[in-house]
Amino acid sequence: MSNAPDGLPPLREVIAAHGLSANKALGQNFLFDLNLTGKIARRAGDLAACDVLEIGPGPGGLTRALLMEGARKVVAVERDARCLPILDDISAAYPGRLQVLHGDALKLDPAAHLDPPVRIVANLPYNVGTELLVNWLTPPSWPPFWQSLTLMFQKEVAERITAPPGSRAYGRLSLLAQWRCDAKIVFEIPPQAFTPPPKVTSAVVHLTALPAPRFPADAAILQEVIARAFNQRRKMLRASLKGMVPNMEQELVAIGLNPQERAEQLTLAQFCTLARHVQALRAA
Ligand code: SAM
Repeated sequence: MSNAPDGLPPLREVIAAHGLSANKALGQNFLFDLNLTGKIARRAGDLAACDVLEIGPGPGGLTRALLMEGARKVVAVERDARCLPILDDISAAYPGRLQVLHGDALKLDPAAHLDPPVRIVANLPYNVGTELLVNWLTPPSWPPFWQSLTLMFQKEVAERITAPPGSRAYGRLSLLAQWRCDAKIVFEIPPQAFTPPPKVTSAVVHLTALPAPRFPADAAILQEVIARAFNQRRKMLRASLKGMVPNMEQELVAIGLNPQERAEQLTLAQFCTLARHVQALRAA
């Protein structure tokens, strides 16, 4: 088989040569089609002046696309040591532009290796994707170290990130994402595009960090309110939020909320109003 446009062998050949079989426990579903990984990389915007953080490069399908699309530098965090020799070959083809960090993305802090502006692009391992996203959305201060996130998730998770109030998918992820970002689903990818194919359809979500949150609120209190409200999403607010401050039911009425409503009916603006009210009452 002839080489791909980057001069490296096609991914299927690379995998075969290294005897790399997908490990289900590591959420490994690989993309071999460089046209598709190129489409994801382009959706991340102009990368020429950016450092890109990629989580889970695996055999490097998306990594190669990011480099071909002109990323200034890619820092890729991979847990599976079996992928490292393959990634070394990609590094050699792009001298000085690919740095691979071996480790668990949930534990490792890549900040020291990245220069701003930073964009994060990843076909995330399903088992850690949501936790990584929540970490990126809830840093101690805002704006965060990244400008945008272009991430592949199970479609169901992508829908939770972008869901409007009142919908079935609306919840903690929607509110955390939409408070501080513009978030949209950019395209879907069918199971057959992956090797091995997962059971579900995937979707790429693009999130752009807003310069400041959409409505003022203390991040920790807002997160507490949201977590409690959705912990038992079928409960009325007066029950799910009980005990956050004395006389919660009256306090809800005082800011114009119906204590009998459920979390999924509250807008982001209303959650922020509630968080500010809780903060003021606790400070009094
Ligand atoms: N980017 C490749 C692609 O698109 O073909 C592989 C994507 S695969 C869905 C997820 C990758 O994340 C795998 O290579 C897996 O080994 C890696 N991974 C899983 N858990 C990880 C973790 N905690 N930290 C870093 N990488 C992880």
